[in-house]
Amino acid sequence: MPDCIFCAIAAGDIPGRIVHETEHSLAFLDVNPLAPGHTLVVPKDHYARLDDLSDEISADLFRTVDELVPRVEDAVDADASNVGINNGPAAGQEVEHVHVHIVPRFEDDGGSPIHAVAGDIPDLSDEEMSDIEAAISQS
Ligand code: AMP
Ligand code: ZN
Repeated sequence: MPDCIFCAIAAGDIPGRIVHETEHSLAFLDVNPLAPGHTLVVPKDHYARLDDLSDEISADLFRTVDELVPRVEDAVDADASNVGINNGPAAGQEVEHVHVHIVPRFEDDGGSPIHAVAGDIPDLSDEEMSDIEAAISQS
C-alpha cells in the first residue's frame, strides 16, 4: 500500500529494528516506545483492520505474538506486559496497517491496566446486557 509506513518497513524501503520474521508476519521495535522493548507485530501484507485478515494470516500473526511476548519480556527483564490492538481510528489506531503492540510492564512503572483505554464507562441494565449478548452470539 503506497504511503503506508509499515508496508515500507516490510518491503525494506525504510529501516526498522526488526526482531523476528515469519512467512506472513514481521516484528520490530516501536520507534516511540512506551517502555523499553515496546514491539509491534504486523502482517507483512497490508490489512487495515483485524477482520480483514484471513485465517492463515491471523493464525500466523497471533502465533508470532504468543512466541514473542516471553522473549520481549526476558530481553528487558520485564515483570509483565500489555498486549493490545488499536483496531480502527476511533480506538486510537493511527497507522492503518494492523499491528499488535507488546508493551513490557514493570512493577511500580506508574502505568495503567488495559481497562484504562475506554471512555465513559456505561452503566448497563441486565436487559441491555442480554441484548448485546444475543447480538454477538447470533451474528
Ligand atoms: P497506533 O496508534 O496503534 O496506530 O500505533 C502506531 C505505532 O506505530 C505508534 O506506537 C508509533 O510510535 C509507531 N510507529 C510509527 N512509525 C513507526 C516506524 N517508522 N517504526 C516503528 N514504529 C513506528
Ligand atoms: Zn501497510
